Amino acid sequence: MSISKNLNNIKSQLPAHVTLVAVSKTKPISDLMEAYDAGQRIFGENYVQELVEKQEQMPNDIQWHFIGHLQSRKVKLIAPFVSLIHGVDSLKLLQEINKQAAKNNRVIDCLLQVFIAEEESKFGLDEQELNEILEHVHNDKENYKNIRIVGLMGMATFTENQNQIEKEFKHLKTIFDTITSCTDAINRVSPENIDIKILSMGMSGDYQLAISCGSTMVRIGSSIFGTRNYQ
Ligand SMILES: *Cc1c(COP(=O)(O)O)cnc(C)c1O
Repeated sequence: MSISKNLNNIKSQLPAHVTLVAVSKTKPISDLMEAYDAGQRIFGENYVQELVEKQEQMPNDIQWHFIGHLQSRKVKLIAPFVSLIHGVDSLKLLQEINKQAAKNNRVIDCLLQVFIAEEESKFGLDEQELNEILEHVHNDKENYKNIRIVGLMGMATFTENQNQIEKEFKHLKTIFDTITSCTDAINRVSPENIDIKILSMGMSGDYQLAISCGSTMVRIGSSIFGTRNYQ
């Protein structure tokens, strides 16, 4: 199957409220261009250097999402152009994003990454840390004028067990619903830089399940571009 066929096949299955991020990490520009020519405009990358190089070579109407684990010292490299950062998992990182966004006269949209898996290896905030960050940004909004928290992101455990994955997605959806009901109430009184509306969950192997659990944004790589070859 070609990239454009894969892309059209997936898009035909997505409900209208679900946004598709084409995850193009490790793939050559020619593959990205095939997806671009088939109409895809949102691309997700995991590595800063690779993202910067691809952004320079690709058309400038692309929205680039950073979906990997972002180190504070590398934020400045993507701050001029990145449109959404999915994996924000500390206040320190959020502060650095705000600082670099300010230098570029931008407001950068961010998703807070929530830890929902059973594995030790996955990054993310627990519920308490998540609430602390939201409260801090809400109370100190003058110092966070160049970021906007627009949603949550999570990754399920890497397992074949669909029940386990479903349980984790539903857990994240519950957290998402709790937070949106609080922040919607706040925003009715005074609009601010917390506006939770995106729930980023679901990859090639589990996006249908994620959507049935309430995902509004899926990050799909191998089902579009084929399996990856890491060197
Ligand atoms: C690589 C990656 C994806 C895409 O994975 P596929 O299984 O190839 O669809 C999605 N999200 C994150 C955070 C990733 O690192």
